Amino acid sequence: MLTLITKVTELNKVGKTLASRLKKLGIETVKDLIFYYPFRYDDFSRVLKINQLTPGTVATVRGRVDIIANRRSPRKRKILTEAVISDESGEIKVIWFNQPWIGKSLKAGDELFLSGKVSGDLFSAYFNSPNYEKTSTFNLNTARLVPVYSITQGLTQKQLRFLIKNIIGLAAKAVDYLPAEVIKKEKLLALSSALRQIHFPLSQASLKRAKERLSFDELFLIQLWAALARKKLAKEPATEIKFLEKETKNFVSKLNFDLTTDQKKAAWEIIKDLGKSRPMNRLLQGDVGSGKTLVAALAIYNTALNGHQSVLMAPTEILARQHYETLLKLFKPFKIKVGLLTRTQIFLAGEKVKKSEFLAGAMKGEIKVIIGTHAVISKNVSFGDLALVVVDEQHRFGVEQRKLIKQKGRETPHFLSLTATPIPRSLALTLYGDLDLSIIREMPQGRKKILTKIVSPEKRQLAYEFISNQIRAGRQIFVICPLIDPSDKLGVRSVTPEFEKLDQQIFPHLKIGLLHGRLKAKEKEAVMEQFIKNEIKILVATSVVEVGVDIPNASVMMIEGAERFGLAQLHQFRGRVGRSEHQSFCFLFSDSGDLESLKRLQALSDCHDGFVLAEKDLAFRGAGKIYGYEQSGFSDLKIADLNDLALIKRARAAAQALVEDDLSRYPLLMEKINSLNFSGHLE
Ligand code: ADP
Ligand code: MG
Repeated sequence: MLTLITKVTELNKVGKTLASRLKKLGIETVKDLIFYYPFRYDDFSRVLKINQLTPGTVATVRGRVDIIANRRSPRKRKILTEAVISDESGEIKVIWFNQPWIGKSLKAGDELFLSGKVSGDLFSAYFNSPNYEKTSTFNLNTARLVPVYSITQGLTQKQLRFLIKNIIGLAAKAVDYLPAEVIKKEKLLALSSALRQIHFPLSQASLKRAKERLSFDELFLIQLWAALARKKLAKEPATEIKFLEKETKNFVSKLNFDLTTDQKKAAWEIIKDLGKSRPMNRLLQGDVGSGKTLVAALAIYNTALNGHQSVLMAPTEILARQHYETLLKLFKPFKIKVGLLTRTQIFLAGEKVKKSEFLAGAMKGEIKVIIGTHAVISKNVSFGDLALVVVDEQHRFGVEQRKLIKQKGRETPHFLSLTATPIPRSLALTLYGDLDLSIIREMPQGRKKILTKIVSPEKRQLAYEFISNQIRAGRQIFVICPLIDPSDKLGVRSVTPEFEKLDQQIFPHLKIGLLHGRLKAKEKEAVMEQFIKNEIKILVATSVVEVGVDIPNASVMMIEGAERFGLAQLHQFRGRVGRSEHQSFCFLFSDSGDLESLKRLQALSDCHDGFVLAEKDLAFRGAGKIYGYEQSGFSDLKIADLNDLALIKRARAAAQALVEDDLSRYPLLMEKINSLNFSGHLE
């Protein structure tokens, strides 16, 4: 008897070869087949009369085979199958190429459905290689919404449809972990119908309902996981940080600029969280240059004045030092002890110190502000009184590292992540459902727009002349190259020829730097160091290399093969320039004359809002291309559309309502959630 766990090898007509091809798709059991959803559908549901066919349209007819024969095409040595099919309204010619079995298996008199594109013109319309199927009570390949699966070499759509059709009855046995109340309240389709309809929908309407149900399931699990993580965190004690209003105002008044409204709002959200006796877990999003560091500094400042320690972690040595210098300057008037701890740099209050001295100060809780790299979570470091952890560019820090830093203090610290990656709201609610969000959308006043231009191949020379003039005026240039060969993950092959071209042919008299993933950390740092010191004039880099460093003197961002990047990522690159009073430029080079790509790039020159661009990315390219998504652990969503904010909100609300309930009432659900491995960003 067939069950869900029956191996596909035990199914009719599945031999070794077919089984191994199915395995490539991750299909090994009946259950896997049922949960292997189509990625699109051909709508062949409208059956027309032959005399109603219009060339250029997709249609289905029902007719009888009058003649059918194979023949060899004269020149190309191909086998042609030609047939004439008729119904009561007329007849139409059909041709198939290189599928001789069709001519052998069909014969005159057979009743058929044909679905496909009508070729030819009004007077000589014909079907070119249509789907065909003998009429039956359950057609799979024609005369319906036909499922289209992603397949692999040696496996056909027809085979897969046939296999799934034969076992789809077992969908009734699939475990439905969604609580009955939720199904009822959300008016969702029963799981078994949803599974049947997703493969062989009766109509567009029932397909929509099936998608809704199966998408809801996926989103609901993520949201429930997030709600549970929140609940767990809320039970942990944390140090209350009092908001020192007078002192904070004084601190802000000493800045030589006013905070933007968004900065104030974000700072206030953070300060309110810090005042609670449970740990904050918040993500601060804002474009490069929007002033996130300053907002974090306000939180750190309050924590220090309350007498507790903060740690600020950066992904690279250089970035850590830049943060150290910034905070040292900001906190100097207030006598707050600031230290820097990286693999190669140990500083305290502006002086180089011995490691042992630093570690003792950290352990006793004397150093109130510690900036560092991963070095701060190494074994021998501990913190006497850690209350706040700020992590810059959170994508770089995994679950394990968070756990480690937690263990270094007395209790769970407040946690603030900073990210310059703009993430559309729908995606943020999914990827970061366990975090609270603060967003800075507004840039500080007086920032000049970065002039962004698509440069056509004929104008490349002019762009080089422009760059030459910029360098003569004292500026510096970034050149970013895409990964050309997917096997070349570190980008060595992509950047090297570009570097050599610029170094030897175009600017032989200038010092040019090269940065890619194969370089050792030390070598990277050395190159960046030279760039910061303005010894290197042009830096050629891959996107895999984090260039999140502040180089105010750089004024041109040149991006090769720009069409290969997402808009949000291009926007990030662009944000590396324009950080000083100099007018800055972003040049987009594209090898592709493709209109769609050019349109996308045009959107970048017209728009300077990272969130809008990220939303465009999500709409145009799908979630898979959004930075950080692949690493999130949620990327195995099979059907849910991460643009669907409405459904995400429904799933979220349902999950939040459920965690208030006694979850032991839902053993199936709990079993499911415990089996998940969302390694994203929290334990
Ligand atoms: P981010 O970390 O978001 O990329 P930073 O905090 O490094 O941005 O800020 C970029 C620069 O803008 C810094 O030099 C900072 O001093 C400055 N800055 C921050 N906030 C403001 C503001 N409200 N007005 C003007 N300049 C600001
Ligand atoms: Mg920053």
